[in-house]
Amino acid sequence: MNILNPSPVEMVIPLPKTVDAMLAGDIEKESVFVSPYLERIVVEPDGASARAILKNNAPIEEVRDKATRYLETMTKQVGGYEAKVFLENERQDDGAYEPDVDAQLAEAGWLHDYGKGQIAYSGPVLKLARLIDAKAGDLYADRLGAIDGHFPALVDADTLHQCGYFDSHPNAVTFLANLLEDFDAIEEFRVANACSEGALLPPQDHVHVDGMCLNPAACFPCYPTLKGRQLQEGECYSWLGRVFRYESRNISGLERLYEFNVRELVYVGSELFTQASRETSLQIIDELVRFFDLDAVVQTATDPFFATVSAAKKFWQQAQEVKNEILIPVAQTDGTRKLLACGSINLHGNFFGERFKIMCPDGEPANTGCVGLGVERWVLACFSQHGLDPDRWPVGVRERIF
Ligand SMILES: [Zn+2]
Repeated sequence: MNILNPSPVEMVIPLPKTVDAMLAGDIEKESVFVSPYLERIVVEPDGASARAILKNNAPIEEVRDKATRYLETMTKQVGGYEAKVFLENERQDDGAYEPDVDAQLAEAGWLHDYGKGQIAYSGPVLKLARLIDAKAGDLYADRLGAIDGHFPALVDADTLHQCGYFDSHPNAVTFLANLLEDFDAIEEFRVANACSEGALLPPQDHVHVDGMCLNPAACFPCYPTLKGRQLQEGECYSWLGRVFRYESRNISGLERLYEFNVRELVYVGSELFTQASRETSLQIIDELVRFFDLDAVVQTATDPFFATVSAAKKFWQQAQEVKNEILIPVAQTDGTRKLLACGSINLHGNFFGERFKIMCPDGEPANTGCVGLGVERWVLACFSQHGLDPDRWPVGVRERIF
């Protein structure tokens, strides 16, 4: 029986095993997807138990059951392995890190936050975003011969299914819904909104979901275009992709957007080719962080999965050894620093080659890898490390954005 409680309640749930700070962070972040009645879960500093904060009138036992099962699943995830550092850079700028950058950029009139994970920007913010994108794109073209492209923001559910996304991050998917092709349903919707104050959404039975989604990972739309191809040694592609991840209540300014831009690089070919391309892309990242004068580190990382991931987990956890994250420190409101994941460098083995029948000359499925740079996070990192005073910025950047 569910007992409804009249006011917010917290409950402490012991964890099946002690978790490290990294896993604790994932547990807290993903906890917004556990129950609509759960505000969030906070892991205690000792990592041995968690505190679940419930909303008003939550059915306590039901939420306790879900939260317990969620925590059991999450604590089974592999964690606590040693991170391997591939590159590290220390900036020249010796000024202090700037907290609350979002608010300052908004005040300067360069950023508008719509409040639901989408932002508009102009002025130096736009110029910087474009420079980050262009600089990376130029280096990829120059060093890797990357071919320029454009890919749509909408992606078919079948493609996401083939890419294993529903196995790994089902909670982050956005499906598009359309009004029924029905004269009465369309007219009802039109009339209802003709005189309403706010938007009135159609009833669920007047809406259909047909499997078009907003693309949640920049590289996915590239693979269907290579279907059935037999490549020579290998090829590189690079483009600016628009990416959407449903974050529920986790959205937060420039740091965690629902809709953002990614400068993507994909390499396809023999194992040797993808490994060499990864090496080159690491050098390019090194050049980028120096160009923008950023403290940064590139190291091995885990991919945070949705709790119950099983089939895809196997692939992704194997891939873990070859997933590197580009971490750039930013200042938090209280002045402390935190590492912001501003991109990743990944090797996928022959996962996509096999699924999309992309072949090497010997008939074996091709290997692939990708590098994604979250443009808005790079913008946040640059402003966080150099502030709004142009004098602190490296000359090559300053001249082009202010
Ligand atoms: Zn990718």
